[in-house]
Amino acid sequence: MIKKVLIANRGEIAVRIVRACAEMGIRSVAIYTEPDRYALHVKRADEAYSLGEDALAGYLDPLRIVNLAQETGCDAIHPGYGFLSENAEFARLCEKHGVTFIGPESDVINKMGDKTQARDSMRAAGVPITPGSEGNLADIDEALTLAEEIGYPIMIKATSGGGGRGIRRCDSAQELKQQYPRVISEATKAFGSAEVFMEKCIVDPCHIEVQILADSHGNTVHLYERDCSIQRRNQKLIEIAPSPQLTPEQRQYIGGLAVKAAEAVGYENAGTVEFLLSGNEVYFMEMNTRVQVEHTITEQITGVDIVREQLRIASGLKLSYRQDDISYRGYALQFRINAEDPKNDFLPSFGRISHYYAPGGPGVRVDTAIYTGYEIPPYYDSMCLKLVVWALTWEEVIARGQRALNDMRLHGIKTTATYYQQILQHPDFQKADFNTSFVPNHPELLNYSEKSHPSEVALAVAAAIAAHAGW
Ligand code: ADP
Ligand code: ADP
Ligand code: MG
Repeated sequence: MIKKVLIANRGEIAVRIVRACAEMGIRSVAIYTEPDRYALHVKRADEAYSLGEDALAGYLDPLRIVNLAQETGCDAIHPGYGFLSENAEFARLCEKHGVTFIGPESDVINKMGDKTQARDSMRAAGVPITPGSEGNLADIDEALTLAEEIGYPIMIKATSGGGGRGIRRCDSAQELKQQYPRVISEATKAFGSAEVFMEKCIVDPCHIEVQILADSHGNTVHLYERDCSIQRRNQKLIEIAPSPQLTPEQRQYIGGLAVKAAEAVGYENAGTVEFLLSGNEVYFMEMNTRVQVEHTITEQITGVDIVREQLRIASGLKLSYRQDDISYRGYALQFRINAEDPKNDFLPSFGRISHYYAPGGPGVRVDTAIYTGYEIPPYYDSMCLKLVVWALTWEEVIARGQRALNDMRLHGIKTTATYYQQILQHPDFQKADFNTSFVPNHPELLNYSEKSHPSEVALAVAAAIAAHAGW
């Protein structure tokens, strides 16, 4: 069994990994850069080491991190999500230095982390993929010819993209000519690679993804699906497990496809296979070869601790569950509370948290690294808290989400919390009738007033009465 883990990440996911280690009697080592000196993962891990002044360089320096793991006696590295988590070179370096990388083998990361290679593997394995280019696009002429064949609308996508960036929809040849160089420049800047490919744009699909776990003994299982259709600019905002929109037959089919996809590439550890669902058609979109932001909701409906399983798998143990042992109960929602101002085009709103009160009560889970007095640094993700709620029925989970969002107090920065309450109130959301166009189709949901927040008003009134009465 792994004894000591270096966590090559920061923020809530680093704290999540520290928690799993603590419950398993594994020592945890945090790394941080100076802007993160007061971050929670630094305080919570058993040991913490600074990797210098630069906000990002330390988190992205494979050799330095592997060396530090060895110097501090760690036998494994957990990469979390983002940063080096899908960097095959990093995984290879770990393998070379005899440090266990908690994730799949480097060549599997290569196969699945690169979106065009993943499409090739899936084509070969008989998993349906979105129609599109066979590999990367050579130039705009090839793109124009192919788009005529496939038919507009099409998507131009960065081959090494992620986080919803480097994706543009084009509805005509004219748009394609405009967008093509933009995606290339975005991809080069954000991912250090100019490679792009084309997919047919599936209009108004649901984003359905399946969590899988695979051990080194040839066992692969799925933990059912998540519906991540509530997105803005291809970025997930609210995630749901299981999907309230799937039939039992679709659920079984898509779960089986995910296992087939993972087995086809010899996948090991936790991973997510993402699909688009349109009517009864299912298309493989990509695989994320790491723990995902929204693994929490799958944990809530299945009771499986995914990070714990990752650590066990990396230790060479067999999965704790066979497919038949895994069932789900109720519904879970995750709200990505971002430090952004929805009313100002979701502009990042970094700064000091002047007051934070965590929501609680039945069926509520919070994964975060913020605390009262914490200053959110401007260098990283704007996601600052994940609020997860669970309940037995769809109606109850919506009510619980409303209640938990109401309970929470997060002052000093603007967040997406109140906006999410508007989404929960929409009749289509309540009827479980939505797809990836829900957010762009409902700009009116941004016309809320922060001040009309009923409990906020009640609180202000109570405070005024208290002040008046001299309590
Ligand atoms: P998930 O697929 O787990 O829902 P997201 O797409 O929201 O994750 O990405 C999680 C984090 O990882 C974000 O900070 C995002 O910017 C980062 N990320 C994801 N993919 C990549 C990538 N290919 N390159 C760099 N960063 C990435
Ligand atoms: P990332 O690596 O950034 O997560 P994905 O390939 O998973 O990129 O796509 C992100 C989102 O973009 C999807 O969830 C979906 O909403 C949208 N999208 C991507 N490809 C297509 C497509 N071919 N047709 C329609 N929507 C798409
Ligand atoms: Mg994706």
